[in-house]
Amino acid sequence: DAFIVKVAKAKPLNAFLVETPDAALAAARAADAARAAGETLKPLAGVPIGMKDLFCTKGVATTAASHILEGFVPTYESTVSQNLWDAGAGMLGKLNMDQFAMGSSNETSAFGNVISPWRRPGSDAPLAPGGSSGGSSSAVAAGLCPGATGTDTGGSIRQPAAFTGISGIKPTYGRCSRWGTIAFASSLDQAGPMARDVRDCAILLEAMAGFDAKDATSLRQDVPRWEAGLSGSLAGKRVGVPKEYRVDGMPEEIEALWQAGIDWLRDAGAEIVDVSLPHTKYALPAYYIIAPAEASSNLARYDGVRYGLRELPEGAGLQDMYAATRAAGFGPEVKRRIMIGTYVLSAGFYDAYYTQAQKVRTLIARDFERAWESCDVLLTPTAPSAAFALGEKSADPIAMYLNDVFTVPSSLAGLPAMSVPGGLDKQGLPLGLQIIGKPLDEQGVLNAGLAIE
Ligand code: GLN
Repeated sequence: DAFIVKVAKAKPLNAFLVETPDAALAAARAADAARAAGETLKPLAGVPIGMKDLFCTKGVATTAASHILEGFVPTYESTVSQNLWDAGAGMLGKLNMDQFAMGSSNETSAFGNVISPWRRPGSDAPLAPGGSSGGSSSAVAAGLCPGATGTDTGGSIRQPAAFTGISGIKPTYGRCSRWGTIAFASSLDQAGPMARDVRDCAILLEAMAGFDAKDATSLRQDVPRWEAGLSGSLAGKRVGVPKEYRVDGMPEEIEALWQAGIDWLRDAGAEIVDVSLPHTKYALPAYYIIAPAEASSNLARYDGVRYGLRELPEGAGLQDMYAATRAAGFGPEVKRRIMIGTYVLSAGFYDAYYTQAQKVRTLIARDFERAWESCDVLLTPTAPSAAFALGEKSADPIAMYLNDVFTVPSSLAGLPAMSVPGGLDKQGLPLGLQIIGKPLDEQGVLNAGLAIE
């Protein structure tokens, strides 16, 4: 009840697109009944969860924060959400996000910006909650729900977690099923939890993850008992510090935070080693070719026939309907991505852009493989800045894309990566530290996160 009331009162944050108090209450009642009957409680019995609006939820409107999906009510439940309900959790509502998960500030939503609950001292200027899982980060940071789902294609769990002082983990690509999750860039998209601390992330991820025959890239791997395996001791572990992440113009306080993180991990027993990931500087351009390429293909399905919106001008033919529906339904950032994507995939430019970006992706994955010869996890900042003001970067897509510089390399390599709160900047805004792990070593990532927290 308390969470339902909080959500109802927190309208100005614009974190929720749909509220589903009945579902949350039903889960709470089921947990109470199980408790009264002396039954063993399910791992998430009665826990209210906010669902990013990228997950299809049966009978509950799902829009990916785009007009083109207005009126779409899925007849099926995504595997990740179903896994949460099977573990006893209840849905509190659907969370606002960047449209089709494209963005780093939650300003591309068709249903308005999400506002971070944080402010700079002496200023009322609303700050970005990060993106694309900005509804999730804002809701968890404001205490509207104890946990939320996010998705991360190039940083969309980690960067918003960093901006709002919470934790979030993107597991190894393939850990969480993509079935029923609206696709952005299928070779990169991964679901993961966002919560107040590392332990809650471990508990939620255990419920969300697992092999699913309905997703061809799902990993046939058992879900480890991550929570039970949590340990703050890093004795015998080696933490790599990649020198290429010391980018030009990085604010001093981010450098200082990074150094503090190194010291904390050393205090927890880790050995610190310098490592090199030489192709890091090519990750961002490669990502902004591969992700739009896949998006342009995935978004071809929104044609005015199969889902949501249909614009059918008087006397229009099929082509006109496609054009009118897509012109009216997609926001400007989505259109930009579709144009970049179709361009880099076009016959004349495919080799110069798309093939080249795929080669770079392989080199980046190899950089990490080589790094694992000398360390167990990597420590970096999550983002090159603290939360910026809404509007500050929205007119300049390149400035916005640059915010993803530290999160995209691990996405391209499919590695597990987490952001944990590291401290506050001079203005009192949260900064995040990122831990990147070996494939399938979420445990190592969570343990390093716990040592920082
Ligand atoms: N900010 C990145 C983008 O706009 C990442 C988004 C995401 O991870 N979904 O593509």
